[in-house]
Amino acid sequence: MRYISTRGQAPVLNFEDVLLAGLASDGGLYVPENLPHFTVEEIASWAGLPYHELAFRVMRPFVAGSIADVDFKRILEETYGVFAHKAVAPLTQLGANEWVLELFQGPTLAFKDFALQLLGRLLDHVLAKRNERVVIMGATSGDTGSAAIEGCKACENVDIFIMHPHNRVSEVQRRQMTTILGENIHNIAIEGNFDDCQEMVKASFADQGFLKGTRLVAVNSINWARIMAQIVYYFHAALQLGAPHRSVAFSVPTGNFGDIFAGYLARNMGLPINQLIVATNRNDILHRFMSGNRYDKDTLHPTLSPSMDIMVSSNFERLLFDLHGRNGAAVAALMDTFKATGQLAVEEDRWTEARRLFDSLAVGDEATCATIAEVHAETGYLLDPHTAIGVKAARECRRSLALPMVVLGTAHPVKFPEAVEKAGIDAVPQLPPHLADLFQREERCTVLANDLKTVQQFVSAHGNRGKPL
Ligand SMILES: *Cc1c(COP(=O)(O)O)cnc(C)c1O
Repeated sequence: MRYISTRGQAPVLNFEDVLLAGLASDGGLYVPENLPHFTVEEIASWAGLPYHELAFRVMRPFVAGSIADVDFKRILEETYGVFAHKAVAPLTQLGANEWVLELFQGPTLAFKDFALQLLGRLLDHVLAKRNERVVIMGATSGDTGSAAIEGCKACENVDIFIMHPHNRVSEVQRRQMTTILGENIHNIAIEGNFDDCQEMVKASFADQGFLKGTRLVAVNSINWARIMAQIVYYFHAALQLGAPHRSVAFSVPTGNFGDIFAGYLARNMGLPINQLIVATNRNDILHRFMSGNRYDKDTLHPTLSPSMDIMVSSNFERLLFDLHGRNGAAVAALMDTFKATGQLAVEEDRWTEARRLFDSLAVGDEATCATIAEVHAETGYLLDPHTAIGVKAARECRRSLALPMVVLGTAHPVKFPEAVEKAGIDAVPQLPPHLADLFQREERCTVLANDLKTVQQFVSAHGNRGKPL
């Protein structure tokens, strides 16, 4: 498979190089040159396959030419073998034709494990072949950091530096990062906020001199491999519920447009999806676009669903590319406008097309808590606040009561106890067995000033399994 940039001016890459690339050199994002398409017969023949075998069939065209089948099969079996539930992504029924797809059975209890467990293993495989080492730098407000660290902890050829804002992530989230003690794992608490961390990552990608030639790799959802891994669970859930002979709807809590974009790709690959709902919190730039053709940068509103607290959606550009007939020059012009003015709008017919593809809803904290309480009262089931936003949007925007509606369950409620408490529920969610002693484990973390030079010196002094680069 070949990959092209959404802005049309960067070199065409194969899967291996896309895996190791961050942004394309023209500032765009990489997407497959041609999306694979599966027939109804093919999809039907996958019913009942174990998760890793389905994953092999869905993702094989994307890695073709870069990863050999035997290696890819082994990597996928290992990746999804670490999930706590035998079904990997089990469905739980909430109501009539209404399900939660539990994507939080992985090591860090959020859906990001699906992609980052795979990403770490793919990186190590490719780097061993090339006899190369890389450094990963990432910023996190919580979920991405722990999932990235868990995904890379066993990598021989990767040193990972994750920055989080000092004293501004929850204790569970901090401990999920800082209690992983490998010599290639580096947690940095920055005396600043999440945006400060993010800016330092961006600045480091822009000027990599401090890395002395070592390659820097991205783990946020601009990395194509993350989107690719997320396509699989749409197929898995839909097959369980009667696809391809029956259509299925999905409601997706999203901020960066990563998870919902994977669903859009699944539909384009032949999966019968009759409705895709974009569910956002108060940081609703995506809902503003879908409902009024306004994609404009607002201030950040901290919410009870912090993993969706964003001002701009980094993957939205991938949709813009398709809406503009895959014209890179048109996307580059739009993104230039956005950079200069903080807003963009698309032509009327393109916006109409976006509305045909997606429904959307923004859900505030109050409605989030009310939904957690409502579902708990109805079923005894405890939702995390991100998933609750998906349930609320599903119930408001649903088009057919006769077809299954699947809400992506993006995190375990134990990660966000504040929302559960605010919903007036006494039952404190419990940590699952593999994390039961989290509060007794040793932590390792370095607190650094909010200063780019200080951080870069730290990376170059420790980037080779704790030793200087
Ligand atoms: C990251 C995250 C999201 C949003 O994912 P997108 O990539 O923005 O679609 C939603 N819920 C949880 C729990 C997350 O960690």
